[in-house]
Amino acid sequence: MRISIKTRLFLSHFLAVVLVSGSIGTYFYVSALDSLLENLKHRLSSTAAMAAESLDAASLDAVRGPGDVSLPAYRDGLDVLRRLRRTNPDIAYLYVMRREGEKTFFVVDSDESEEQALPGTEYPSPPASLLAGFSGPAVDDRLYKDAWGVFMSGYAPLRGGKDSYLLGIDMRDAEVERKLWHLRLSGIISLSLSLGLAFVFASVLARRINRPIRLFAKTCAEVAEGRPGGRVDVHTGDELDRLASALNDMSARLAETLARRDEAEAQLRRSRNELEARVEERTMELQRVNAQLVFEIEERKKAERALYAAAMTDPLTGLPNRRAMERQLAAHVARVGRGSSPFAILSCDVDWFKSVNDAYGHEIGDQLLRLAAETLQASVRTGDMVCRWGGEEFLILLADTDLEGGRIAAEKLRHAFEKLVLPVNGEGVSRTISIGVAVCRDCLDVDEVVRQADEALYAAKNQGRNRVAVKVSA
Ligand code: GH3
Ligand code: MG
Ligand code: MG
Repeated sequence: MRISIKTRLFLSHFLAVVLVSGSIGTYFYVSALDSLLENLKHRLSSTAAMAAESLDAASLDAVRGPGDVSLPAYRDGLDVLRRLRRTNPDIAYLYVMRREGEKTFFVVDSDESEEQALPGTEYPSPPASLLAGFSGPAVDDRLYKDAWGVFMSGYAPLRGGKDSYLLGIDMRDAEVERKLWHLRLSGIISLSLSLGLAFVFASVLARRINRPIRLFAKTCAEVAEGRPGGRVDVHTGDELDRLASALNDMSARLAETLARRDEAEAQLRRSRNELEARVEERTMELQRVNAQLVFEIEERKKAERALYAAAMTDPLTGLPNRRAMERQLAAHVARVGRGSSPFAILSCDVDWFKSVNDAYGHEIGDQLLRLAAETLQASVRTGDMVCRWGGEEFLILLADTDLEGGRIAAEKLRHAFEKLVLPVNGEGVSRTISIGVAVCRDCLDVDEVVRQADEALYAAKNQGRNRVAVKVSA
C-alpha cells in the first residue's frame, strides 16, 4: 500500500499530538477523578463528623425498637437528621446506628418514605468502612448496594457513643454519577478540542512540508524529462530553503548547459550542411570536368582513329594504302619466321592504263581505278588483304597460301578484271591486268618478297600482259 508523504506527515503529527495531549489529558482526568472522589470522601467524612456532634448518644440509649418512635429522644434525633438532610441536597439519607456485639441496628433513619428503617431494624452484613465508623470518621472507598439502593457513605461515631453509635450519611449513586459525569464531559470536551487542534496542527504542518516536496518532485521530474529551467518558489526559512536554492541553481545550470549544447549542435549541423554543400558542389564540378575530359579523350581517340584510318587508307579507292600493307606484310613475315604457314603476294598492274587517261581524261581514269579496286576486293577471301600500292598498281596479300594457291587466285583475279567495264559516254572502257606471284616461305624481310613479286610482274608484262607470272624462289 502506498501512502503519500503528506498522509504520513499528517498521521505522524496527528498521532504525536494525540499521544501527548491524550497522555496529559488522561493524567489530568485521572487526577481530577481521584481528586473528585477524595473531595467527595472528605466532604462525606467531615459532614458525618459535624453531624455526629449534633446528637448525643446517651439520649438515644432508650430507643431500641419500633415502638420507641414516639419517644422524645427519637423524635428530636429524627428532626436533627431530617434538617441536616434538607440543608444539603447532595445527601440522600442520614441515620444513626448502634453496634451490639456482632450486630448492627438502626436507631434513627431520616428516610421519609415508607421504607424508613425503624429503630431496632438490623442492618445485615455492614461493609468494613461502616464498622470502622463506630470508632472514628470513615468513608466508603466505593459505591455499595443495600436494600435501600446504591450509595457512597460517610460515617462518624456519635458524640459520647464511640464504638457503640455512629452517624451515617448516604450520598446517592446518581449524585456521585452526576459529579463524575460532569468530570467526564469536561474530559470529553477537552479531548475533542485536543483532537481538533491536533487535526488542524497536523494538517497545517503536513501541508507546509508537503507543498515544497511536491514542487521539488515536479521540478525534478521536469529535469528528468529534459526540461530544466523550472524554479521552486519556497520560502520556509529552514533547510527546505537551501534545498530549493540548490535545486534552482542545478536546474538553471542544466538549462544553460542544454542551451549551449543545442547551440553547438545547431552550429555543427550548419557546418556539416555547408561542408556537404561544398562537397556536392565540388563533386559536381569534378563530374563536369571529368565528363568534359572523357568527352575530349573520346574526341581525341576518334580523331586519332580517323587520323590513323586516314594514314592507312588510300583516299581514292578506300583500300588500305602502301603503309598499311607494309605493316601487315612485316607482321606476316615475322609470323612465318616463327613457323607459321607461308603466305603469297600478288603484285598487280593495270595494263595500258595511261591510255585511259589520255583517251578519257584523268577523272575517268580515277573512276576506273575505283572500279578496279572494288573488283579486286570482291575477288579475294576474307582474311586476304588488297591495297593500292601506288598509281595503277595493287598489292594483294593471301594468308596461308602457297605458290600454286597464289597462282590460282591470281588467275581468278585476272579473269574477273577482264570482265570489268566502265561505261563512258555510251561505250565501255575496260583494261586487263598483269599479276606477278611470289610466296614467302622463309623470307627474311618484306622487301625481298615484294621484289620477287615485282620481278614476276615484270616478266608477265614482258610476256605480253594480261597474264600471271610466278616467281619461283631459289
Ligand atoms: P603498262 O602496260 O606498261 O603498264 O602501261 P601503262 O600505261 O599502264 O604504264 P605507265 O607506267 O606508262 O603509265 C601509268 C599511268 O598511270 C601514268 C599515269 O598517268 C597513270 N596514273 C597513275 N596514277 C594515276 C591516278 O591516280 N589517276 C589517274 N587517272 N591516272 C594515274
Ligand atoms: Mg605501272
Ligand atoms: Mg600499267
